[in-house]
Amino acid sequence: MSEIIQVKHLSKTFGTNEVLKDINFSVSEGEVISIIGSSGSGKSTLLRCVNLLEDPTGGEINYRGDNVLARKYNPTKYRSHIGMVFQSFNLFNNLDVLGNCTVGPVKVLGKSKAETEALALKHLEQVGMKAYINARPSQLSGGQQQRVAIARALTMQPDVMLFDEPTSALDPEMVGEVLKVMRDLANSGLTMIIVTHEMEFARDVSDRIVFMDKGVIAEEGTPQEIFSNPKEERTKEFLTRFL
Ligand code: ADP
Ligand code: MG
Repeated sequence: MSEIIQVKHLSKTFGTNEVLKDINFSVSEGEVISIIGSSGSGKSTLLRCVNLLEDPTGGEINYRGDNVLARKYNPTKYRSHIGMVFQSFNLFNNLDVLGNCTVGPVKVLGKSKAETEALALKHLEQVGMKAYINARPSQLSGGQQQRVAIARALTMQPDVMLFDEPTSALDPEMVGEVLKVMRDLANSGLTMIIVTHEMEFARDVSDRIVFMDKGVIAEEGTPQEIFSNPKEERTKEFLTRFL
C-alpha cells in the first residue's frame, strides 16, 4: 500500500496551549481512518493542520513523500489534493447547487467549465442531489446541503477526503442519509480521514481507528481492537460513554 499522507512528530500550540503533541500517523491509498475522542482533544486541529488551514508548530506532513511544510513546497497545490467537509457545510449561498460544485475547479484549478459540470453532475448523482442543481443552499435541508458539500469536495478530484464531524450539526433524521453517502464513498475505495462521534458507523467503515485524548494519539488500531478490546484505560472510559 502506498502512503499518501504521513504525519511525523506533529505539534501545534496556541499561545501556551499545547493542542497537538508529537502526533504520528499515516494514511495509505484507499484507507478509511476514523478519529474519535472527546471534545477538545485536538481532532479538528489535527485535520486543519493536515489541510494546512492551521500552521503546525513543529513536525512534518509528507504528501507522497514530500514534506509540504518545507519552504519550497507549494501549499496551494497540496491543498488542491485534499478535500474537506465541515460540520457546518459552508456552501456559497449566492450560487446554486451546480455553481457551488463547479466554482472551485473552474476558478481555482483552471479546469474547463464543460468538463467540470459533467464531473459535478456525476458526483451530485452519487450523493442523490442531481435533481437539485438549480436550487440555492438556503432552499435545502441540512442533510441535502451536506450532501452537496460532499459533491463539491469530490468535484475537486481530491486524493484524500477529510470529514470533520459531518453529521454533528444535522437534525437526527438527516444523519442517516449523509452517513449512507459516506459509506458508499468508503466502499468505492476513496481515501478518507473522518472525525466522528458516530461509533457504529466508524466501526463499520474504517480500516483503522485513532483515539485522541488531550492532544495525543492515545491508542490506534483496527475497529475490532479499539471497540472490542481497547488496551488503554482512557479509551475504555471514553467508549463507555458512547457504546
Ligand atoms: P476537538 O475537535 O477534538 O473538539 P479542537 O481541535 O477543536 O478539538 O480543539 C483542541 C483545543 O485547541 C481546544 O482546547 C481549543 O480551545 C483549542 N483551539 C482550537 N482552535 C484554536 C484557535 N484557533 N485558537 C486558540 N485555541 C484553539
Ligand atoms: Mg472538532
